[in-house]
Amino acid sequence: MKTALLTHADCLEHMTPDGHPERVARLERVLHALESLDLDRRTSPLAADDDLLRIHPESHIRSIRSSRPTEGYRQIDGDTFMSPGSVDAAYRAAGAVVRAVDLVLGGDSPNAFCAIRPPGHHAESETAMGFCLFGNAALAAKHALDHHRLKRVAVVDFDVHHGNGTQDLLWDEARALVITSQQMPLWPGTGRPDETGAYDTVLNIPLPPRSGGAEMRAAYEAQAFPRLRAFKPELIIISAGFDAHQDDPLAELNWSTNDFAWITAELCKIADECCNGRIVSTLEGGYDLNALAEATRAHVEELMKAAR
Ligand SMILES: [Zn+2]
Repeated sequence: MKTALLTHADCLEHMTPDGHPERVARLERVLHALESLDLDRRTSPLAADDDLLRIHPESHIRSIRSSRPTEGYRQIDGDTFMSPGSVDAAYRAAGAVVRAVDLVLGGDSPNAFCAIRPPGHHAESETAMGFCLFGNAALAAKHALDHHRLKRVAVVDFDVHHGNGTQDLLWDEARALVITSQQMPLWPGTGRPDETGAYDTVLNIPLPPRSGGAEMRAAYEAQAFPRLRAFKPELIIISAGFDAHQDDPLAELNWSTNDFAWITAELCKIADECCNGRIVSTLEGGYDLNALAEATRAHVEELMKAAR
């Protein structure tokens, strides 16, 4: 069976103003980098409001829908913008992770990658922020727990920024282990080790500016992997941001493309041990186009190797 790739052309219709780092070209470059790979290509459905209601109150969903401009842009926080295509893009992004969970838990795909935008891990329960409108990774977790009745799901977020939204949405969810590594200090400022969730199921791993792959590998081996193995998740969800790359303009970590391949391969090993290899990965950040394309391809190639 092949790794599934979920995406939709609507995700290219979410426009941001000139000079904004979270731009259409990101997804174009990612899709181009994955073009020659032998993947099971699927089109993302629109998420249903019932799906989104697993993580957001109706007021937030209504507010996003009503913030859609008929032309141009609407700024909804310091760095988050909407264009006429943004609502459909956000519903496709959320729909992609829901379908990916269905495919992997239904045994139709060994693992899956969602090439989507807008990203999701900064969106909190009632707040769109940091380029994110809906909390895609947390939605994947809740869908797996509530719809598929899993007992334990893990989210691993290696984006360079703290997954504050995922942490917020799963803060009091004892069935979800949330592991997030981030450069600290860095926007949004949260993600300290003492933020551990209502049931001690949140693990924050701060990494110092200018640290590289060696520090990341040591931190994951010492903290994240033992915690994951002890938790024994039935599904691993990856918030795959590639902005810890040494070439990324928004942060100061120095991971190489090989580091992204390494962490993916290690997570695949743990998934093999715990849950028959079941992984759903979703695109978060990554703002140097070459680094993003190369690291995403390396990530997906490791998922493909594990799917054999
Ligand atoms: Zn990021």
